[in-house]
Amino acid sequence: MTHSETAPFQFFSLQVDRTRRLGPSLVRITFTGDDLEDFAAGGRDQSLSLFLPHPGQDAPVLPPLDDPDMYAILGAWRAMPDDVRAVMRSYTVREQRTGPNEIDIDFALHGETSAAGAAGVGPACRWAGRAEPGDRVVVLGPAVAENTGVRFRLPEDADSVLIWADETALPAASAILEWLPAETRAQVFLEVPYSGDRMELATEADATVTWLVREEGAPSPVDAVSGVQLPGEAPYVWIAGESGAVRALRRHFVRERGLDRRRVTFVGYWRRGLSEDALREVPDETAQDEAREAA
Ligand SMILES: Cc1cc2nc3c(=O)[nH]c(=O)nc-3n(C[C@H](O)[C@H](O)[C@H](O)COP(=O)(O)OP(=O)(O)OC[C@H]3O[C@@H](n4cnc5c(N)ncnc54)[C@H](O)[C@@H]3O)c2cc1C
Repeated sequence: MTHSETAPFQFFSLQVDRTRRLGPSLVRITFTGDDLEDFAAGGRDQSLSLFLPHPGQDAPVLPPLDDPDMYAILGAWRAMPDDVRAVMRSYTVREQRTGPNEIDIDFALHGETSAAGAAGVGPACRWAGRAEPGDRVVVLGPAVAENTGVRFRLPEDADSVLIWADETALPAASAILEWLPAETRAQVFLEVPYSGDRMELATEADATVTWLVREEGAPSPVDAVSGVQLPGEAPYVWIAGESGAVRALRRHFVRERGLDRRRVTFVGYWRRGLSEDALREVPDETAQDEAREAA
């Protein structure tokens, strides 16, 4: 295959190099692997699909990865028994580095692995809470930087940005802030469970960051943003996190504040009470809202 024909997404076999707790809710896992030579993250909210082993397996179970057709591999993976085939979950490339080739993924811990220790832990979160150097994973990720796994698309005429993210989208929001052109006016709302989840964020943008800490009694997502004057004439809004919050915020911006729906990017990263497997089976209510408005 010549370079111009490179498929946008490929499978990469990686292993954990190290882990670092960033706060009560987030753990950073750094992955290495020879395959990373061909990895090409597009920055911002670049997502990937992570394939993880079940407890008791020493590597994620997938069909052979040498088939050039990724859909054939995915089809064969789907046909395997649920309790054997690798668990697939969506995550964000927090950072890609070269020399040595590494990627970071920041995992939000919930359920028993978080500081609160409540029920509801999922397999990815459980895996991340116990990850050790040498643990093996497979990633379906970008092989070209311009790819559909980057959803943050700043319109050329945008003169300001509003970002809302919860702890699962904090890695994406952090990478977006690092990417934003210098001086871009940005209003950033970051909702996290604990005071200790606040962190330093690097950006050249003219950003005002508001931390909404749930243990400190943060207002609801819509209440948090409703009093805020959007700077500039042509704002762009990016919202990601729990699906119910994302839907309420999108409605607020599009229906109540009259923003052009094409300038509001929204991604439900998880939904309370549903695993990611279950979430893939139900309609995306926010996308349905959008389709109704477009009709
Ligand atoms: C494009 C995209 C990018 C994402 N990037 C990241 C990322 O960089 N970091 C990250 O941490 N997450 C990210 N997510 C979210 C992550 O995929 C979900 O949180 C996922 O459900 C975690 O899988 P799990 O196996 O731990 O839980 P699941 O098995 O999927 O769910 C088990 C239970 O846990 C609940 N649950 C899931 N996540 C949370 C949570 N955070 N807090 C409380 N309850 C929860 C579910 O509602 C369910 O009841 C991203 C999602 C998408 C779609």
